Amino acid sequence: MRTAIGIDIGGTKVAIGAVQEDGEVLASVQFPTEVEKGPDYAVTQIISSVSEIIRNYQVIEGIGIGCPGPLDTKRGIVTNPPNLKTWHGYSLVQKIESAFQLPVRLLNDADAAALGEYFFTYRKTYKHVLYVTVSTGIGGGIIINGQLYEGSKSGAGELGHSVIDPKGPLCGCGKSGCLEALASGTAITRIWKERLVQRGSQIEPTWSGKELFAQAAEGDSLAKEVIEEATTHFALGLSQAIQTLNPELLILGGGVVIGQPAFYEQVKTKLPHYLLDQHKESLQIEMASHGTMAGVIGAAASILETRK
Ligand SMILES: [Zn+2]
Repeated sequence: MRTAIGIDIGGTKVAIGAVQEDGEVLASVQFPTEVEKGPDYAVTQIISSVSEIIRNYQVIEGIGIGCPGPLDTKRGIVTNPPNLKTWHGYSLVQKIESAFQLPVRLLNDADAAALGEYFFTYRKTYKHVLYVTVSTGIGGGIIINGQLYEGSKSGAGELGHSVIDPKGPLCGCGKSGCLEALASGTAITRIWKERLVQRGSQIEPTWSGKELFAQAAEGDSLAKEVIEEATTHFALGLSQAIQTLNPELLILGGGVVIGQPAFYEQVKTKLPHYLLDQHKESLQIEMASHGTMAGVIGAAASILETRK
């Protein structure tokens, strides 16, 4: 069976797997990125792990790499992702290509996850798909006519940086009131803690987003209010993208969506209120199915999809 290698590079860890055309992951490894040691440190480990996989599974067609953006995917360069500070300007594709006689493709991590969902689960039934992930940040990937749409500078689908409230909180990108600053896992937890402080309530040092959702489930009114606001903002942000793209399928993924069913259900209920009839009638909404391996599976899909 056709098999490709997927590499998922993140700010904290690198995950690598050999993925079959049917979506089965044959072998996988992961190790810390150790960003402070620079890209060559991680790439040396990537090359040795990939070499071992190739020795065991000789029919590898190519190597797909998903990485946080901004990237120059056409030239294979890691431009300037905030969580890979020592990698800025690094010619990642050239490094990997010089080690193996195989095609190598680099793409944005959210685009990889979108492609993974599309290729392995939905490519036979849909042509126009929007994938959006909510975890520490918010990112997206767009499939148009069955093809990943990356835009002119591989920056398509960055709906985390759509401004929802110009008077809202400062975003990591420098703008104010971006969707990511209002509805990502990091943002929701921050907003909740700010309101607890305003109220003069005690905050336990161990409290994270999980505690927020747990308190909301127990009926705490502040926790419920914070989540309601976030899901309203998220539905508003999604509606802008849906009205622009008119997808048939919206796939929601990432730790907040998959880990907190209340978040997903609220968004599903609210979103149709912000859409035109023609957009909502043709829209299916699904939860992403690939969980923690989404990045690896998606990166491999970027190779497998080149010959369908
Ligand atoms: Zn932003």
